[in-house]
Amino acid sequence: VNLDKPSSSSSFHKCSEEAPKQEAVKTDDVRGLKRKSLHENSFSPMQRFRKQHLSVTLLCDQTWCEMKSVYNLLKPHIKRKEMQRTEVQIGQEIHLSRELEIQDVVPVDIRTREDGEAVKLLNMLHMIPLLEAGQRVREFPVFGVQEGVFIMGVIDELMYNQKGELVLNELKTRRQNSLPSSAQDKVNCFQVGLYKLLFDGLVRGEMKKNHIFDHLKLRSAQILGAGVQAHAKNLGVHARTFEELVETLLITVSCSDLPCIDLLQIEYFHQGSNGPIGTRVAPFDEAQIRGELQAYLSYWTGQREPKGVDIEEAWKCRSCLYEEICEWRKNRFTVSDQQAAHSSSHL
Ligand code: SF4
Repeated sequence: VNLDKPSSSSSFHKCSEEAPKQEAVKTDDVRGLKRKSLHENSFSPMQRFRKQHLSVTLLCDQTWCEMKSVYNLLKPHIKRKEMQRTEVQIGQEIHLSRELEIQDVVPVDIRTREDGEAVKLLNMLHMIPLLEAGQRVREFPVFGVQEGVFIMGVIDELMYNQKGELVLNELKTRRQNSLPSSAQDKVNCFQVGLYKLLFDGLVRGEMKKNHIFDHLKLRSAQILGAGVQAHAKNLGVHARTFEELVETLLITVSCSDLPCIDLLQIEYFHQGSNGPIGTRVAPFDEAQIRGELQAYLSYWTGQREPKGVDIEEAWKCRSCLYEEICEWRKNRFTVSDQQAAHSSSHL
């Protein structure tokens, strides 16, 4: 399920950042993780959580607080409660209505994991010529391999501006009628920067078909289901197997007229008044984004333990769902509080 976007279909079938998992994390595994602590495990977090890829959404959660993103996986029922909050629901409805302004929903029968991924690729194959013709597209899937990890995301909106620049627009709805804090802004800038890395990699032809088969454990020779084949035919795409469809997509995207993304912008929208708050142009420093990403991925590939927020950002804990159970908070901030009390008693 795509966590920060509406759950209904886009032009043909809803693209999701999270491919269906072969197996969810089992309750016993969660108990085991709790007993062993979060880091005393010989498997990397990617293996432990049975992840074949990471979503942009998850990496953005990690930007806010890495420990929180780990608890989101360990305590999905608590995370679900947050997702049901009215603010999140209203945000999803606004995203959906925007999407439906320019795209129709076409149900497609899906029988296998390959079918599910095939629909995303078909959505891309449908949108590429529209974008080349200067039209606006929404919910454009992107993916790529960074630091050996397969990452998937869905770009809210792509369009050309009057200067002929390719613009990525990310819609953020807010309950408050004001721009976000610098901490939230940092997360949003990282998100659009990561989308640009992935999109640019695709148009530069950096993605190879074996990346898709190997990382996502998909069967290249799998015959596409009848519903997917019929849908592909309607779009003028001829592919019988999953591999044929992947080849078609990769050739189409790398041979298209699409440039790399020129401009990243974040559009803030007020839920209450249903009106704009403001639009921010996000800076893009490739070396910086890559450096941040490398640091985040080093946790998922098992090179280090998870971290919570620094003491300067302890204010984030006050609104955190995991405040009561967080080991990081207990160990770090309680010790800091005790040290502070100790030093003041000697003044
Ligand atoms: Fe992160 Fe603080 Fe929440 Fe722990 S309590 S997960 S450190 S925000």
